[in-house]
Amino acid sequence: MWRDHIGHPMNRVRLLIFNAALGPLDYKVPEGMEVVPGSVVVAPLGPRQVTGIVWEEERLPADSVPDSKLRPLLGVLPVPPLKAELRRLIEWTADYYCAPMAHVARMVISSGGALKGAATMTEYRLSGGMPERMTAQRELAMAALEGEQANIRELSEIAGVSEGVLRGLVNQGVLEPVEVDCDRPYPRARADFDVPELEPEQQAAADRFVEAVREQEFAPFLLDGVTGSGKTETYFEAIAAAIEDERQVLVLLPEIALTEAFLRRFEDRFGAAPVLWHSSLKATERRRAWRAIASGEAQVVVGARSALFLPYANLGLIVVDEAHEISFKQGDGVRYNARDIAVMRARFEQFPVILASATPALESLHMADTGTYEKLVLPSRFGGATLPEIETINLLEEKPGSQSWLAAPLVEALKDRLEKGEQSLLFLNRRGYAPLTLCRHCGYRFQCPNCSAWLVEHRLSRRLACHHCGHETTPPETCPECGEPDCLVACGPGVERIADEVAQILPEARVAMATSDTLNSPEKAAEFIAMAEAGEVDVIVGTQLVTKGFHFPELTLVGVVDADLGLEGGDLRAAERTYQQVAQVAGRAGRGAKPGKVLIQTRHPEAPVIAALAAGDRDAFYEAETEARRHAGAPPFGRWAAIIVSSEDEAEAREAANRIGATRPHLDDVQVLGPAPAPLALLRGRYRYRLLLNARRSASLQDVIRAWLGDLDFPPGVRVGVDIDPYSFV
Ligand code: ADP
Ligand code: ZN
Repeated sequence: MWRDHIGHPMNRVRLLIFNAALGPLDYKVPEGMEVVPGSVVVAPLGPRQVTGIVWEEERLPADSVPDSKLRPLLGVLPVPPLKAELRRLIEWTADYYCAPMAHVARMVISSGGALKGAATMTEYRLSGGMPERMTAQRELAMAALEGEQANIRELSEIAGVSEGVLRGLVNQGVLEPVEVDCDRPYPRARADFDVPELEPEQQAAADRFVEAVREQEFAPFLLDGVTGSGKTETYFEAIAAAIEDERQVLVLLPEIALTEAFLRRFEDRFGAAPVLWHSSLKATERRRAWRAIASGEAQVVVGARSALFLPYANLGLIVVDEAHEISFKQGDGVRYNARDIAVMRARFEQFPVILASATPALESLHMADTGTYEKLVLPSRFGGATLPEIETINLLEEKPGSQSWLAAPLVEALKDRLEKGEQSLLFLNRRGYAPLTLCRHCGYRFQCPNCSAWLVEHRLSRRLACHHCGHETTPPETCPECGEPDCLVACGPGVERIADEVAQILPEARVAMATSDTLNSPEKAAEFIAMAEAGEVDVIVGTQLVTKGFHFPELTLVGVVDADLGLEGGDLRAAERTYQQVAQVAGRAGRGAKPGKVLIQTRHPEAPVIAALAAGDRDAFYEAETEARRHAGAPPFGRWAAIIVSSEDEAEAREAANRIGATRPHLDDVQVLGPAPAPLALLRGRYRYRLLLNARRSASLQDVIRAWLGDLDFPPGVRVGVDIDPYSFV
């Protein structure tokens, strides 16, 4: 039984069910059961059971069912009820992004294991006993497992022996079982573990943050500091204040592969690792983190965008690092932007939020300029390090030889750094060896069967892969079309090919690749960082994975292999993205005592974005880009939304898109473009059409879309997705 807000005992509740197709459902609360709004409960549905969240009835309209028809709830799950502020955030997010509330709620309840309550699991450790018979394998395992405790599968990974060998050791009593609490506490972070001395500008910013954390009021900050200015060091002071006040902190990072360097710094500063949250956590780690977050035990959570919707008991600060990053925007499902939701969450729960970046999004700068965000600036690099010198190489004049991609001035610079024992970094945002493979004889091109995209050759792993759907094949010996042997040629470069070229030009150089293919686990990322820091690498060749986070003092040269790459394709903010990417990767050069240099290869040295980069004139770029956006009615001056229609049947997709097009609203403040086939007209086996909406700021865009699409019915095979504030237009 529970009481409503005026104290009447209530015996019926409305549930938000995690299945969007179901809609809200009403239930009876059986005698003796305690539920409140936000309780996570189990309810019967036909012969099945469903999980749902108790919601305020007036906020979740549904057809009324008479009391006599209600079935009783089955039980309340042993997790804290979701707070009212979080329920409001779920409503807001669903409303803003035109997504079902159920889908947003699923991002909150994102660990099935966590709902089961307290639990234990069995781990093993060495008992000190000896096996009856020693074998080489057993000896190896016992040496490796000294001081370790984990489950059998993890121990087998650590020891490098099979699980069978370890089971044998369990049977002989050499490994003993230990029952551990699945929710054992995390090590405590300490605000005063190792406090740095801040420079005056850093201190001024840190003081503002600390003040805002203490006041527990909504306060959005833009921390705008050049690469290497100590933004991290500065916001760590805000984290320290929250730890002291026993309020939880969330730090959102864009690229989870890169957190290793960050985690080490965090540990140096606070004496313990933070709680991690990302998509590749094991189920046990996920449940442990979720429960610690919900109970308030987790002090600082470092996570990818999905960490934003977790049910923090007592959140007091969010930091969005590299806040301009496009990966904060989710591309499917609920297409939310974590940066923007972070600000909303801070507002609902009344605490400060810090957006940190060396190349803020134009939207964020605009918010600062209009006084909505408070801007704090760190204008120079820490410790007197200078920003690198930037030059362009015009590829039309300095043509690389055939089948090569590095122009002479860049090659000279690489040689020079190698002779001096300094490091270089070559940046090309393209994984694999070559983006296209074709038959020299008949012209056949290898295309993905599920997507309108070429298959990318990965020579290291000997496969042709689609980067959109994951389809893979091994490269054939003969052309599948004309049957000619040895006739396949790779067209264009990916990072693997650039690494090959470096190896040819500088045979003595030690080359390391840094891409999501080579650094695909935290361990591999840590290994790479350790090697680079120890000076065991001369040339790093990397994708956008290397544009941020790294701090290698001996790295003095950055070469951008193809600055024009980002200007092609379906990116609605192409110029801004190119600016950010090149400025960020340039920021890896000259972070130590030696000055850095950046060489940008381009066929368009005169393009405003390239010219601004070469001149080091950030303001000029932002001013030009702002004017262009204002003129086009693009964000932040106008608004965009996309409608994506897809089906496995091309005619069905086209028909549905045309019907949406034909029923478009005719409004002064909303312009509808399309429908047209999407640039990626086939994706994962689905044919795709798109419409783009451009609205004035004053238009209630979401209401227009809801009214428009809400009136239409589509065949079951058709999916219609809405993307508010889209980033890409593929
Ligand atoms: P950003 O996040 O702005 O790129 P970082 O916080 O990574 O900058 O700082 C760059 C480097 O300078 C790091 O190695 C950092 O430890 C160091 N650093 C910055 N500020 C300080 C400080 N006040 N005291 C000691 N080291 C600092
Ligand atoms: Zn594909």
